[in-house]
Amino acid sequence: MKKSFIIAIDGASSTGKSTLAKALASSLNMVYVDSGAMYRGVTLYAQQQQWLTEAGLDKEKLISHLDDIHLTFTNNKLFLNGADVSSEIRSMAVSNAVSIVASISEIRAFLVAQQRIIGATQAVVMDGRDIGTVVFPDADLKLFLFADDQVRAQRRFNEIKEQDTEVTLNQIHQNIKQRDYLDSTRADSPLIQAPDAIALDATQFTAESMLNHVLELISKRFS
Ligand code: C5P
Repeated sequence: MKKSFIIAIDGASSTGKSTLAKALASSLNMVYVDSGAMYRGVTLYAQQQQWLTEAGLDKEKLISHLDDIHLTFTNNKLFLNGADVSSEIRSMAVSNAVSIVASISEIRAFLVAQQRIIGATQAVVMDGRDIGTVVFPDADLKLFLFADDQVRAQRRFNEIKEQDTEVTLNQIHQNIKQRDYLDSTRADSPLIQAPDAIALDATQFTAESMLNHVLELISKRFS
């Protein structure tokens, strides 16, 4: 496999992108990058600095301090300026605000540049919304996962109900619908399927059958 082999996995929230991406990365000995975690990390930073509150976002302040934000991954955990924030970035407070932060072009440019650097020298599986369309338009393989929003909400609820006992299925469903809307209608890098992406209906697969299906696709295409 060439050094900068890239698998791009895009799709809406909770379609199973990260489960598939992690499994592929581990089967193929590639690096997994959760680009959504990076947008969540910037959102958390803005909240920590009180630039993002119920009253709104101080966009100019955040944009002028982007260089103070250092995001790194170690063992699939996200570190923000040295602190492990993997759990905090999954809070409802971050989930409810992240799509606003991700609609800002300066923030996208800041993170896309880092994503491209990560993919320049190593074999990477990256999941997100714009990986096959904007970040790596020449990716070796592009997948686009989709599923009904009710199914996705239930899936996400099952995942987080143990850590967050306060959250309801309805809150998650509303959050997913709101992010779908914001992510697919924003002007910069909206969530759309790349013309050369393979669309996969996540409801037709278990995590294991999805992995096997994609591994088969890869062996057919690259052998
Ligand atoms: O993947 P996840 O659902 O954690 O992503 C959180 C949010 O980050 C998305 O709803 C979207 O607003 C933003 N995002 C993005 N582009 C990406 C990845 C995530 O705009 N490549």
